[in-house]
Amino acid sequence: MSVIMPIENEQQGALEPAAQQNATAQLKKISSAVQALRDAVILLNNDDGLEWWNQAAEDLLLLQARSKGQSIFDFVSAPEFREYYHSIPIPNDGVHIESWRDAKRYLKCEITPFGDEKLLIIYDVTRLQHLEEMRRDFVANVSHELRTPLTVMMGYLENFSHQPDMPPQWRRGFELMTQQTARMNRIVNDLLLLSRIEIEETHEFNYINMTKLLTHVYDDAQAYNQAYGHTIHLQIDTYDGLQGSEMYLNSALSNLVINAIKYTPKGGDISISWTKTSEGCKFAVEDNGIGIAPEHIARLTERFYRIDKGRSRATGGTGLGLAIVKHVLYQHEANLQIDSVEGVGSTFSMVFPATYVRSAP
Ligand code: ADP
Repeated sequence: MSVIMPIENEQQGALEPAAQQNATAQLKKISSAVQALRDAVILLNNDDGLEWWNQAAEDLLLLQARSKGQSIFDFVSAPEFREYYHSIPIPNDGVHIESWRDAKRYLKCEITPFGDEKLLIIYDVTRLQHLEEMRRDFVANVSHELRTPLTVMMGYLENFSHQPDMPPQWRRGFELMTQQTARMNRIVNDLLLLSRIEIEETHEFNYINMTKLLTHVYDDAQAYNQAYGHTIHLQIDTYDGLQGSEMYLNSALSNLVINAIKYTPKGGDISISWTKTSEGCKFAVEDNGIGIAPEHIARLTERFYRIDKGRSRATGGTGLGLAIVKHVLYQHEANLQIDSVEGVGSTFSMVFPATYVRSAP
């Protein structure tokens, strides 16, 4: 389909013939470039109707000349696309949908609003999606395969370590082997948990009594805190609970509390709170620990990203805790906020939208 647009100079009305020729040539060039794109490009009017499109869009959506003006939802009916479409202009990264003609193909739709109109670009991301699936499966399989040998090793090491007649020169070696296998086991367990959360995009959600869950997290934190001697406060301002996955949320909340304990010098103050906000509900953990320099904050939820590897290892960290938190929050459409001042302390908050908040039954 060709693109024809009137060209006018705002101040002078019609352009000079030479300038008009030039502008038409430029426009043709741009039009041919858009036509040649392998991604589908569609211009939508302010009624969601198709205004113009390139050849790739024509092939993908089976468009015809009479499709002009028809609603985009007649051609892309995926509910997640509709939801994304109506969330514009909220900035986001587009939406992934399965192809309507071939369930094994994956598409990414991206909308850029301009004026009253919208530019929709549809990319075929099937290859990327397959690579991502391969990566996920690989990590899940490796972690799963490592589990049994690790359990056997840990069992034998445990037995040998308790032998009273062990030669003293071996004892240190056994201690180190026991520590390192325990560490490997924690990494494998965290990797498995992460894979499970990633694969189970829609985990079974139930009502969670947050008062009960927070009390449980607090009790576990007190046990872990014995070596640190911090004062830990728990403040519950609302009886509201959540609709979610209790197992995964327990893991996410505990990760934040354990981090606050680990990254605060002995005798610190840690406050855990659950409050109602204008957006929904908020879980926050505040510490007066080592804090985080601003340049690290954006990267903390990457797998294995640690500011000080030695310190993380010494405290039994795997570098996967905040990645788990990020994925769990993603499942619950919640956000992670990190406020920190180096040398002063940090506050990690999870903000749950009102749609996930439930009052006690
Ligand atoms: P780790 O197992 O190393 O604790 P996480 O993914 O839980 O891994 O955290 C990543 C990194 O973020 C940590 O290694 C640490 O450098 C930093 N971090 C996390 N929580 C805090 C905190 N409360 N105070 C200071 N630094 C923190």
